Amino acid sequence: MNSGTFEWGGQDVPAGETHHAYYPVHESFLGDPIEIPVTVVNGDGDGPVVFLTAAVHGDELNGVKVAHEAVERFAPADLDGVLVVVHVVNVPAYGSQQRYLPLYDQDLNRFFPGKEAGQPASRIANAVYRGVLSHCDYGLDFHTSTRGRTTMFHTRASLTDNDDVARLNEAFGANVTLVGTGDEGHSIRAACTARGVPTLTVEMGEAHRFEDRYVSRALAGIESVLTDLGMYDGERVEPTWTRVVDANREKTWVRSNAGGLVDLAVDTGDVVAAGETICTVTDHFASKEEDVVAPFQGIVAGLLQNPVAQPGHPVCHLIGVDDDIAESIQDGGGSD
Ligand SMILES: [Zn+2]
Repeated sequence: MNSGTFEWGGQDVPAGETHHAYYPVHESFLGDPIEIPVTVVNGDGDGPVVFLTAAVHGDELNGVKVAHEAVERFAPADLDGVLVVVHVVNVPAYGSQQRYLPLYDQDLNRFFPGKEAGQPASRIANAVYRGVLSHCDYGLDFHTSTRGRTTMFHTRASLTDNDDVARLNEAFGANVTLVGTGDEGHSIRAACTARGVPTLTVEMGEAHRFEDRYVSRALAGIESVLTDLGMYDGERVEPTWTRVVDANREKTWVRSNAGGLVDLAVDTGDVVAAGETICTVTDHFASKEEDVVAPFQGIVAGLLQNPVAQPGHPVCHLIGVDDDIAESIQDGGGSD
């Protein structure tokens, strides 16, 4: 039995209960409160505290759906520990369905853990960090690609210097993990991990969409993590292959050398051979056609979705894979 009441943000959630709340993190120009929607599921039994965060970039909706469904799926009666679900972190950006905070166009995910007496973005980040995230033991932060592109299901994590992050990442079970992504400074993931709350970033799909295949894959990953942490009696994700990719050295954006209309020949998660066509770029009179080809054998990790290009435009984010992984994917081992 869990005799523990979970206390956060001035609220008490008794063991065995689910509470929904709007938690104030800032004020508008009118002095109205800006509040984030938070659900706390305090299990019947004792255990760790895990947070799920979504929409720190306001137009990235897959994570919002994951948060929504996680609350349905993990009931207090089945849980040992606490699940803290922040449905929308960046409420001002979510309200206008854009990536960045409307004021000054700032990336809120570069301000964590923030400062109490800082500029507006810093204060919002600090209120979320202090009020919610700092009460947790582990975290999963959900993202999508930016507008006009999509990305395969993958995690981003600092694996080398943190065993807890490595354990979390293994339990989550994504095929591909990017390390060294350059968002080390002041993201939710970096700030929480550096302060003793090991956190993964999960990337999947496109902005402005609910994509069922990614949402269900994410829920399976959450279940696997909660099971690994002894919080839930569920199924573990056991991927047939995994690949850790150094984002600074091993990924390439394959670019168009012509302007025109893009016709994609591949999907995210596909394996392409060296020289294989990724897309064709055709001019508006259909008089010129140019193939964009893979420079090496790789997995299509990211793709253009807004189907026009100009010279230099990135059309495909390609990660090199060796023959073993290529065969595993082609044999139906899956990659999403
Ligand atoms: Zn994002």
